[in-house]
Amino acid sequence: MPASETDYQVATTGLLHAVLAGSSEVANRGQLGPLVPLRLFQALRLIAFGSTLEQMVGSGARALVYQSGQQLGQVLGSAVLPQAGKDLRAYVAAIQKLCRQLSIGLVVAEKADLSEGHLILRVDECVSCAGISGTSGPICHFEAGMVGGIVRVFLGADVRATEVKCNAVGDKTCAIDVRVVPTL
Ligand SMILES: [Zn+2]
Repeated sequence: MPASETDYQVATTGLLHAVLAGSSEVANRGQLGPLVPLRLFQALRLIAFGSTLEQMVGSGARALVYQSGQQLGQVLGSAVLPQAGKDLRAYVAAIQKLCRQLSIGLVVAEKADLSEGHLILRVDECVSCAGISGTSGPICHFEAGMVGGIVRVFLGADVRATEVKCNAVGDKTCAIDVRVVPTL
């Protein structure tokens, strides 16, 4: 391992390897097994990647959360890209399968117009906001970043992903609007 790697990076590398290998075996969980209640995941997600970060860094928190999601999206996208090649339909199908396996949500492509550089991807049953309500705006900035990262890998271009529908504001789904950032 390179000396510059932090402990978080070491831990994440091993974790992502297991995730992408589809392994559900988890050492040291002999009795409790590999699953945790969704509500526990949501508490961790919205406290660590939400309210605590917001308290620490203020309005920049959303950008950090988005950036983290984008990194995960790029890892997932890079993992499925070789099998899909340049076929958007095959790529989306591979992403749908992976997101279902990981219980992230049910991904549906509502619009995919590459000539316009515009996609809308729905995440039904979103792991982060299903069952959450009462917010004044969407809260899934991590997922928006993740979808952005996934699209970014396929297109090889910078994109801006914005959550336009969210369970937490009363929509029945999450929807992420993705637009290619024009190069100057
Ligand atoms: Zn949401």
